[in-house]
Amino acid sequence: MFENLSSRLTKVFDRLKGRGVLSEEDVGTAMREIRVALLEADVALPVVKDFVAGVREKAVGQEVVKSISPGQMVVKIVHDHLKELLGGEGDEIRLAGSPPTVMLMAGLQGSGKTTSSAKLARRLRARDRKKVLLASLDVQRPAAQHQLEVLAQQAEVASLPIVQGQQPVEITRRALDTARREGFDVLILDTAGRLSIDEALMGELVQVRDLAQPHETLLVADALTGQDAVNTARIFNERIGLTGIVLTRMDGDARGGAALSMRHVTGRPIKLVGMGEKLDALEAFHPERIASRILD
Ligand code: GDP
Repeated sequence: MFENLSSRLTKVFDRLKGRGVLSEEDVGTAMREIRVALLEADVALPVVKDFVAGVREKAVGQEVVKSISPGQMVVKIVHDHLKELLGGEGDEIRLAGSPPTVMLMAGLQGSGKTTSSAKLARRLRARDRKKVLLASLDVQRPAAQHQLEVLAQQAEVASLPIVQGQQPVEITRRALDTARREGFDVLILDTAGRLSIDEALMGELVQVRDLAQPHETLLVADALTGQDAVNTARIFNERIGLTGIVLTRMDGDARGGAALSMRHVTGRPIKLVGMGEKLDALEAFHPERIASRILD
C-alpha cells in the first residue's frame, strides 16, 4: 500500500549524490517523509515532532560517507535514533534481592493481562527456574479467578486457592502471606481489568500497590489499540507508577508506533512483548525489531 520509509528516504537522498555534506534543505525534504511515515506507523504527533527534531540535528552537516549512498546514510541515522528512543536491549524483569519478588500486572480489560501473567509465570519457571505463585485479584468478572487458575495449571505454576467473597486487598494480603510462608520466589498479582480508566478501580489498584509494594508494576497494553494504548500508559503511570510495559498482540499487524510513543510518554521501558495466544509466546523486547518494523 504505502511505499516503505526506507526506500522513500533512499530515493529522496540519492538525488543528492555527489555532494559532500547534507544541507539544511536536503534534510528538510527527508524530514517531511519521515514525519508522514511515522504518523502512518501510529506514532503520536508530539513524539513525531521530537523525533524529527532529533534526527534533523544528527543529519545536518553529516559528511556523506563515500561508500554508502546519502539515502542509506539517512536511513541509518533514522534507524539508530529510533532504536535509541525505544530503549536498551535487555531491559528485563528485575528480581528482588530477597524473595518473594512481587509483580503487579495492570491494564484495561482485554489487553491480555491474565494471559501475560501466566506467560510471565511460565517464563520465570521454565527459563529462570523460579517457584512462582499466581494470584487473581479480579473480583469484578466472576470467571476471572478461575481463568487464572486454569492458565496456571497450563503454565505448571501454583495459583492462590480461591476464597469466595474476598476483596482484592484481602486476597493480596493472603497472597503475600502464602508466598512468604511457602517460599515462593515470585508472586504475580493479576488485577481486575477495566473497560476504560475508572476511578473506583484505580483507587483499588493504589490500595493494592501500597500493601504489596511491588518490585515491578507492569502495564499490559494491546499494541493494536495504538493511540489509546498510549493514553492508557500515560494515565496508569501517573496514577500508580509503572516500572515497565508488556506490549501484547505484536504478532498482529501493529506497526510498532505505539511502542515508541508509550516509551516516550512514560519514560518506562517496554520489557516484554506478547507474540500470540500460547503461553510460550512471550519475548524480550528487541528495539531493533520494532525500529525495523516502523521503517519497513
Ligand atoms: P485480560 O482481560 O486483559 O486479562 O485479557 P486476556 O488475558 O483474557 O486476553 C484476551 C484475549 O487476548 C485472549 O483471547 C488471549 O488469548 C489474547 N491474547 C493475549 N495476548 C495475546 C498476544 O500477544 N497475541 C495474540 N494474538 N493474542 C493475545
